[in-house]
Amino acid sequence: MVGDDGRVTTSVVVFGSCNMDLVAYVPVAPKQGETVTGREFRTVPGGKGANQAIAAAKAGAETRMIGAVGGDEFGDEIRRVLQDSTVDTRGLRTAPGRSGTAHIVVDDGGDNSIVVIPAANGSVDALADGDEAIIAGSDSLLLQLEIPQSGVVAAAAAGKRNGVRVVLTPAPAVPLPEDLLREVDLLVPNEHEAAVLTGHDDARRALPALLELVPEVVITLGARGCVYGNRDGVRHEVPAFDVQAVDTTAAGDTFVGVLSASLGAGAEVPEALRRAAAGSALSVQRNGATSAMPDREEIDRFVANA
Ligand code: AMP
Repeated sequence: MVGDDGRVTTSVVVFGSCNMDLVAYVPVAPKQGETVTGREFRTVPGGKGANQAIAAAKAGAETRMIGAVGGDEFGDEIRRVLQDSTVDTRGLRTAPGRSGTAHIVVDDGGDNSIVVIPAANGSVDALADGDEAIIAGSDSLLLQLEIPQSGVVAAAAAGKRNGVRVVLTPAPAVPLPEDLLREVDLLVPNEHEAAVLTGHDDARRALPALLELVPEVVITLGARGCVYGNRDGVRHEVPAFDVQAVDTTAAGDTFVGVLSASLGAGAEVPEALRRAAAGSALSVQRNGATSAMPDREEIDRFVANA
């Protein structure tokens, strides 16, 4: 598709989770049975699904979100933030009960502990009316594992049936069933997830093991960049940009969103990986998850000046 500005654009659909992150900043995290006084409290829309949708939309893809929020004020806020980022929320349902929440304690050392309550995300366990048409009308389908696995499998199968590129972020890390793996075109684990899936801590050994499961893989390595491989024997290693990171929350989600927007818009794999690395490098230099994500022009400038 060619947009008003003459640039090729692509359409991305995310089928996944939406949460409200409830973040308490404390000098030292409480031990069991202890109460501590915190410094600050923030609420930030998150969840891997919503994060990837916002990253893709900001990077220039026409983006739709399929998932569920609760009938509470968090649900209204999540929907509003997605819409403000130009994400189409017609596939975002309101489920009975509460929105998903992540209860996060961040200490002064930057370490965190998190309790996730899936709530409405638990209802996304199958395709609903209209979902297949939304998926079929998209170039790429982005999946993660924060909703019931039956929902992920149903969406992946719909993607495959309709010739849509299926991209899976296997997080949280759990062994993946065969009926999901056979629908996946591109798998994007981080180093830890790659190790859980293959038993290899070293990404260069995990990569060929993952390519026995799916045709195309990117393993992200935090500040060390990423490695790419496909079954035709193509390999790329792309370093991360050398930046001062202050908050790496959602770096991986930004990476996947920008990668999908770039590949769908026709970029060759090395260029798309470089743009994804640029997008996540920009995001880690700012606090916040979705609010730190860069737009397409900022990624263009950063890549041009690097
Ligand atoms: P991760 O999910 O931590 O593996 O990070 C995903 C991507 O974000 C990496 O492949 C890098 O391109 C980028 N990234 C993460 N952390 C940093 C950092 N400290 N500095 C620069 N880029 C980073």
